[in-house]
Amino acid sequence: MKAFIETYGCTFNQADSELIANALQKDGIETCGSAEEADIIIMNTCTVKGATQNRITYRLANLERKGKKLLVTGCMAGANSDIIEKFAPSASIATTQNIASMPSIARNTVSGSRVAMLEKRKSDRIGFYNPKGSVIAKIPLSDGCLSSCSFCETKFARGSLNSFSEQGILNAIAYSIRNGSKEIELTAQDTGAYGIDKGTNIAELLKKACAIDGDYRIRVGMLNPEHLHKYMGELIEALQSEHAYKFLHLPLQSGSDSVLESMRRAYTVEKYLEMAREIRSRVKGITIETDIIVGYPNETDSDFEATINAINEFRPDVTNISKFARRPHASASRMKQLPNETINERSSELSRIVRALQAENNAKKVGETMQVLFTEENNASVNGRSDSYRQVVVPKRDSEIPAIGSRAKVIIYNSTSNALYARLGA
Ligand code: SF4
Repeated sequence: MKAFIETYGCTFNQADSELIANALQKDGIETCGSAEEADIIIMNTCTVKGATQNRITYRLANLERKGKKLLVTGCMAGANSDIIEKFAPSASIATTQNIASMPSIARNTVSGSRVAMLEKRKSDRIGFYNPKGSVIAKIPLSDGCLSSCSFCETKFARGSLNSFSEQGILNAIAYSIRNGSKEIELTAQDTGAYGIDKGTNIAELLKKACAIDGDYRIRVGMLNPEHLHKYMGELIEALQSEHAYKFLHLPLQSGSDSVLESMRRAYTVEKYLEMAREIRSRVKGITIETDIIVGYPNETDSDFEATINAINEFRPDVTNISKFARRPHASASRMKQLPNETINERSSELSRIVRALQAENNAKKVGETMQVLFTEENNASVNGRSDSYRQVVVPKRDSEIPAIGSRAKVIIYNSTSNALYARLGA
């Protein structure tokens, strides 16, 4: 029997798809490279944004019409099984927490049954991790989180925090390094909540992970600043390791305290800026990435102004901007919504400011020499990450070509708002 796994969404979902593939292979089900040749399609879905959900439901309806056997998992299985049933009534549905049962569900589905397994049981599925020897290894740390952000649908998909075993994660990291991985991406709904339900935390985990021998770098995934104050000193210490990318992804979401309060984000703008300043002063060359939601229902003109001021004040190296949009279970969807026109205007204005700011930040790097780990290649260039997890592009026309998985010294000769351009050599 052959299964094709189709993945939508974040690094965490990509990591989960690898665990699902391992669970299937362990049970003798082969994974293949296309939906056409598969006996069953396993769709690992995302529910963060309406646009992604629409793409998924369009695809589901299409495959259902063609009579394809479907098993739908991921965040829509956990939060929106009703929507899946509407577009693909014959599809089986199973939450990712039921990974151990997926081989039997797949077999039953191929032989004509429809199975629905929607419990969010607390499973430690890191045990299904099996390194593939790929340059980048994605390691999931936990399911769910400890927050209840008012705009978030993922919370309904993944539920409350269930941290996977620390030793299981450390083993997965060590296996990956021994099998040739050079970049380890630690991923979760909120890496900042990792271990709080098990008497440890992300700083402790990073410290232990960085003690593993080998030539690699570890990236800590998105971290809600809510818990950061509990272990910031330890985290700053752990980030000093040469094995840790000098990088943190700390979503601020808004520069207004009244909006943060309505979002149920448990920090103030001043507290966030204070922590960002301290991290910058104590971790040399740290790259800070942030997320901002524009057009949140109670965001006034002056709230938006406050967001612009906060961004201009702490000048994040990377800012991801999202337009607020209703999600089926998120409480903010029941608030009076702002007109789309206002949301679009604010998004354009902030994008313009962020582009200019990032271009200025990156332009300061021109002329610098950096160590870069090369992780991807396309027709025009070989791309990689500096030790501060900066995106570095080596155009093939301009330079000797570094090998994927290699680390090399480069000199930065140009920049844009999204990347640094380099050639090999010091
Ligand atoms: S931390 Fe907030 S935004 Fe992130 S998954 Fe949890 S509830 Fe959603």
